[in-house]
Amino acid sequence: MNKELVVLKFGGTSVGTPARIVAVAERVKDHIERQGQQVIVVVSAMSGETDRLIDLAKKVGNSKTSHREYHQLLASGEQVSSALTALAIEAVGLKAKSLLAFQVGIQTRSTFGHNLIENVDTSKPRSLLEQGIIPVVAGFQGVDSYGDFTTLGRGGSDTTAVALAAAFSSCKCYIYTDVEGVYSAPPAVCKNAKKLERLTYEEMLELASSGAKVLQSRSVNLAYKHKVPLIVCSSFVEAEGTQIVEEYPGMENIIVSSISHRVDESKITIRDIPDVPGMAAKIFKTLSEANIVVDMIVQSEGQSGRAVISCTVPQEQGLTAADVLRELLVKEIKGSWIEVDNDVAKISVVGEGMRMHAGVAAQVFDILAREKINVQMISTSEIKISIIVKSEHAEHAVCVLHQHFLESA
Ligand code: ADP
Ligand code: ASP
Ligand code: MG
Repeated sequence: MNKELVVLKFGGTSVGTPARIVAVAERVKDHIERQGQQVIVVVSAMSGETDRLIDLAKKVGNSKTSHREYHQLLASGEQVSSALTALAIEAVGLKAKSLLAFQVGIQTRSTFGHNLIENVDTSKPRSLLEQGIIPVVAGFQGVDSYGDFTTLGRGGSDTTAVALAAAFSSCKCYIYTDVEGVYSAPPAVCKNAKKLERLTYEEMLELASSGAKVLQSRSVNLAYKHKVPLIVCSSFVEAEGTQIVEEYPGMENIIVSSISHRVDESKITIRDIPDVPGMAAKIFKTLSEANIVVDMIVQSEGQSGRAVISCTVPQEQGLTAADVLRELLVKEIKGSWIEVDNDVAKISVVGEGMRMHAGVAAQVFDILAREKINVQMISTSEIKISIIVKSEHAEHAVCVLHQHFLESA
């Protein structure tokens, strides 16, 4: 009889100490011996290790994310944890072999930024599985056509795991982490947040891209595209996790399922722009040529034929964005000027039921007004409302919105 194949991904805290790695080995054994499954393991670096490596690069004075060496350095964290995990699995009596990105063939382009996986070669893990050996894959790493390491962006081991599950069809992917599942708000911020039984891929995608770092948003995108069943659960306690599914009965009745926040964006405002066609095109072409990822955009009419455009970008790209825009203004949009504000937070309210129910935005604004929290920018999708507020209000805003939408009967 063919055994079910599952991918098990363990995050940084789950492999954070030797004792935790031993617990991971026991968990792997449970999937194999008690649940009768075949497994591929994916691990993150031990918790804090990627931050430590970034800090070391800063200390030698060169932490440019476009630099090849930066990624050779960062990839080393997962080399350590994958080998340690393979050792621990062997110590509980199973066979295991750690594999780095080039040993599997997790191919990406050779841009040294946040890379996308282009191809996963399944032949090596498949042959190990056939020999009864558990492949323990280093997450977060890719390899380019020159054989150099690339990396997949912070939280990228989630994407490694989903890409492997997608490459082996009909394979479930368990994301083992330090919380029991996906919660109705960041559990560290809102003490009343509840673990959710299920979420749709689209809800999870909106949450992940709005700051709920429990899953990297690219991993959710990939899972959605390839219909990989995802289960987010704890490596610390035995508890039912959260399932990410395409749809579930009654989902349209759940108007708001979760609230998230992020404080790592900058707001850039360009004032006194001539209110004529082509200005927004120039501004956003300049940003895109500098590889700056723009999130929210708002344009409003200013006074006497001059407009105001605000947008948000990742804080780490804020200074570059301001530099390239200043250059553009000097050359082509004279009389305009720029403000950069890092003191902002984005709060997002997400729920499938918003497709069918009107009035959620009005409730959000009403609650924030009552708390005297000023809304600076707004954007919406079919199932999400995001707003920008001053960062000092972020946690309070999450809690009052949670109370209104998720704690009352
Ligand atoms: P790992 O190291 O396992 O990849 P992460 O730190 O990347 O774990 O993600 C798990 C963390 O995500 C949790 O500890 C939690 O603080 C945070 N988090 C933020 N929002 C949520 C949410 N809505 N549900 C669950 N966890 C969340
Ligand atoms: N180690 C990487 C990080 O800290 C990747 C991951 O944990 O998923 O971002
Ligand atoms: Mg993570």
